[in-house]
Amino acid sequence: MPLACSDLGLRRNVPLGPLTTMKVGGPAAFFAEPRTLDELAAATSLGVPIRVLGAGADLLVNDGGVPDLVVRLTRMHARRGLYVEAGANLPNLVKETVAEGLGGLECLAGVPATVGGAVAMNAGGRHGEIGDAVRFVDVLEDGRIRRLSHDEVGFRYRGTALADRIVVGVEFDLRPDPAARARYEEILAAKKATQPLGCSNSGCMFRNPPGLSAGRLIDEAGLKGAGVGGARVSRKHANFFVNDGIATASDVFRLIDLVRDQVRRRTGIELELEVVVWGKP
Ligand SMILES: Cc1cc2nc3c(=O)[nH]c(=O)nc-3n(C[C@H](O)[C@H](O)[C@H](O)COP(=O)(O)OP(=O)(O)OC[C@H]3O[C@@H](n4cnc5c(N)ncnc54)[C@H](O)[C@@H]3O)c2cc1C
Repeated sequence: MPLACSDLGLRRNVPLGPLTTMKVGGPAAFFAEPRTLDELAAATSLGVPIRVLGAGADLLVNDGGVPDLVVRLTRMHARRGLYVEAGANLPNLVKETVAEGLGGLECLAGVPATVGGAVAMNAGGRHGEIGDAVRFVDVLEDGRIRRLSHDEVGFRYRGTALADRIVVGVEFDLRPDPAARARYEEILAAKKATQPLGCSNSGCMFRNPPGLSAGRLIDEAGLKGAGVGGARVSRKHANFFVNDGIATASDVFRLIDLVRDQVRRRTGIELELEVVVWGKP
């Protein structure tokens, strides 16, 4: 029997800022947190444009919010062997698999995400990317589940070819590796030493231009510590922007413009956003 709208726990005007790591931005016109695939499929069939929210660790929501239905997947988090639902917490999964003596995900130590968000963004860094450890991905597409092989997902630098498909589950390809735990701890320690982890932020703001480091370009432009309103370029890592606690999305966007402008004038390089932006200013 099809699910009724009321069964989905659909809510209106739900503030999105608290559901992102940057803690800025306005509300979603409609909001749902499905617990099952049927509930998710029902939400996607309501005829309202859908946006999928994971851990909100790579998102900047504008102050005006979005006129769409935001579907947050964190209630779909079951794990069966190496198959994991999309809403599962990635840091917990990384910790668990390393403790089980499995290697493949330790390169993602210190990356806040859901499994689905990490796959959609091909999260990673110089130690490796999540795509390297994926066997297949189940997506919801036009109301149906489709299984995509690793190659069909189209993993690339901080992205995939998934477009509007919703990741609902991921099978990982992990192998016994007694050295994984030591690598995990080393990567985690390095991140704690170099990233502003105690403050609200959304990870790296800009993509690295080919062969270059966005953080270094910002640092060399003398912009560490530069701020607009409550938003500031971190002194610890210049590609991280932090929210002092009172920032609005508008502060963050004005800081983005300032940094881009200064780097362009100094080097001629146009920095491209890595974070995903939702809504209009
Ligand atoms: C302190 C900090 C450190 C970070 N370090 C790294 C790092 O080292 N490497 C790195 O790559 N990133 C890093 N990030 C950014 C972030 O962790 C990753 O981009 C992560 O993949 C975002 O996952 P999420 O679940 O939070 O996605 P969200 O931010 O919720 O969403 C991001 C995008 O993915 C889409 N999406 C989410 N879930 C799904 C789904 N199930 N199906 C389809 N699309 C989906 C959303 O619609 C949106 O377009 C860091 C962020 C922080 C705050």
